Amino acid sequence: MADKIKLLPDSVANQIAAGEVIQRPASVVKELLENALDAGASLINLIIKDAGRTLIQITDNGSGMSATDARMCFEKHATSKIKTPEDLFNLNTLGFRGEALASIAAIAQVELKTKTADEELGTEIIIEGSQFKSQENCSTSIGTSFSVKNLFYNVPARRNFLKSNPAEIRHIIEEFQRVALVHPEVSFNFYNNGNVVFQLKSAPLKVRIAQVIGQKNYEEKLVPIAEQTENLKISGFIGKPEFARKKRGEQYFFANNRFIKHPYFHHAVESAYSELIPDGSIPSYFIFLEVNPEDIDVNIHPTKIEVNFTDKQLIYAVLSASIKKALGQFSLTPSLDFEQEDSMRFDFPQDRPVRPPSIKINPDYNPFESEQPEPDPRRESNQTNWDRLYDFETSSTPSDSSDSFSSTESLDSPDPAPSENTEWAASSMDMIPEEESDVKVGSTTFIQLGFTYVVSSLKSGLIMIHQQLAHERILYEKYLEQYENRQIASQQLLFPVNINLSVEELSFVKEIEQELKGFGFDLEYFGQTGIIINGSPMDVSEGKIPSIIEEILQNIDLGHDPGQERKKAFARSMARQLAIKVGQKLENHEMDQLTDALFSCKVPEVSIDGEPIVKTLSLDEIRSRFLQ
Ligand code: ADP
Ligand code: MG
Repeated sequence: MADKIKLLPDSVANQIAAGEVIQRPASVVKELLENALDAGASLINLIIKDAGRTLIQITDNGSGMSATDARMCFEKHATSKIKTPEDLFNLNTLGFRGEALASIAAIAQVELKTKTADEELGTEIIIEGSQFKSQENCSTSIGTSFSVKNLFYNVPARRNFLKSNPAEIRHIIEEFQRVALVHPEVSFNFYNNGNVVFQLKSAPLKVRIAQVIGQKNYEEKLVPIAEQTENLKISGFIGKPEFARKKRGEQYFFANNRFIKHPYFHHAVESAYSELIPDGSIPSYFIFLEVNPEDIDVNIHPTKIEVNFTDKQLIYAVLSASIKKALGQFSLTPSLDFEQEDSMRFDFPQDRPVRPPSIKINPDYNPFESEQPEPDPRRESNQTNWDRLYDFETSSTPSDSSDSFSSTESLDSPDPAPSENTEWAASSMDMIPEEESDVKVGSTTFIQLGFTYVVSSLKSGLIMIHQQLAHERILYEKYLEQYENRQIASQQLLFPVNINLSVEELSFVKEIEQELKGFGFDLEYFGQTGIIINGSPMDVSEGKIPSIIEEILQNIDLGHDPGQERKKAFARSMARQLAIKVGQKLENHEMDQLTDALFSCKVPEVSIDGEPIVKTLSLDEIRSRFLQ
């Protein structure tokens, strides 16, 4: 039999190897930024075109390279940073495998211009798909400039694998931010398609953090942390608890100046905050850990951001303690006030009289008017829901009743299955609306309790509906349905609304622009990170727009929220912002419509956050209270 094994040509082998180091434009940006920093640059310019597909150019004022080094740097395992095997265990230089440039040159068209301080002329090299095209002397300033053009031009499969431009830009911004945070002493400029994305002057760390996050007065939200033990140094800044938001993205760990992800240490931080921030919120942090290089497992791929520490538990403990100390020192706890947050979801405190709401409502305003086209197509499901309530209560036995109402419904996927106490129809009572002949809710009388609950009597007890959760559910289903049927009408605003965003938020907005439009938001961009909303969904007032956009940005986790989930997150955000609130007085006809609309929903019993919307108090329970 003939021999089959052949050696791959170098160009193919290089392309394969390149795939490990360079997955996307952001990987090129990371490698080139790190090289520039290793070369001692104090100013680095990054220029991107088409999210890095057509051009990534990085210019630095670092040491530059001699003509020979300039040629050598593209060779595999060419590095000036490792001379002995021991150097492998030193993480102080960033790239340490001499692979990045060889990889980039294998899958792109690269132009290098470089000059050292003691040379008259610099060197210009062009290399494409690992093939040297030219090498010439050139006049250029001290330092190095790499232009990486048409990334993956010779690997179509990889090129096709890239995501949308906004998504790729977001990855680039992420890498850039990580590097810029570690080097506040270095100035950076970052342009995308000719627009400034970042202009960062050399600054103290606290200022750099604010620059990178791109929010005004961000410094005021930060508290320093500092701790030193024999083998560990912790420094950096953490966010004051009151500014913790639901959004991820402002959580940074650096180990010996490399960005890392470490769920275990993240837990240490979260636990230190646990009493101080509402559930679901995530504190911001920018924490620098310094350990002996031997205490980090370097046997990891240089592009990976997961690392292993020899003494994780100790670091966890010191970290948690130092955060508590920092928060304590700045006596941040007294300024916390969760009352507002809580009052959104829970009963009014028993020991205080219920204050009338300060909100005035227009008696003519009918929040549900627009949802009730005639003839009401939802009437059918409304009737069914009430009928089921009727049927269930009269036909089921206590033993099989536990999952009756909700499990017959095809639950919308993000809505968790109702928990035990949401099985409001589970009692064995005859929960029949009082007028048996006509179970439609329109004929029932409602009272409002504590400006929170809509209560009505059924034949065998009481039914209580949480007004805010109910309205959220109604609006959620309405927006979702309208979006799917492309029915959301947009109104042009008389006074467009300007919103300033952080750089990251802006890239989020760009990524979800289509959905925003689909939901009726007409927007344009202005300045570096601003957007102008010119149009909004019909029933959204101007004043509500910024909070809706903020809520959407907080709720959309782009990493985990592709396609389907996104529109749900949108609908959820709009519903949350626009729903009537706890504390709002409802007129009789409003309670009527609220209940009617709720029972027209697909999932009337579970809130959009998985909480119960409806509870019942059976006649038996009421009776038992009297007997005692
Ligand atoms: P590594 O960074 O792991 O050494 P690279 O392939 O990234 O490998 O770079 C190879 C070598 O090229 C570096 O070791 C360095 O000597 C040189 N080099 C790369 N970029 C620059 C730069 N911007 N300025 C000066 N020298 C550079
Ligand atoms: Mg490198």
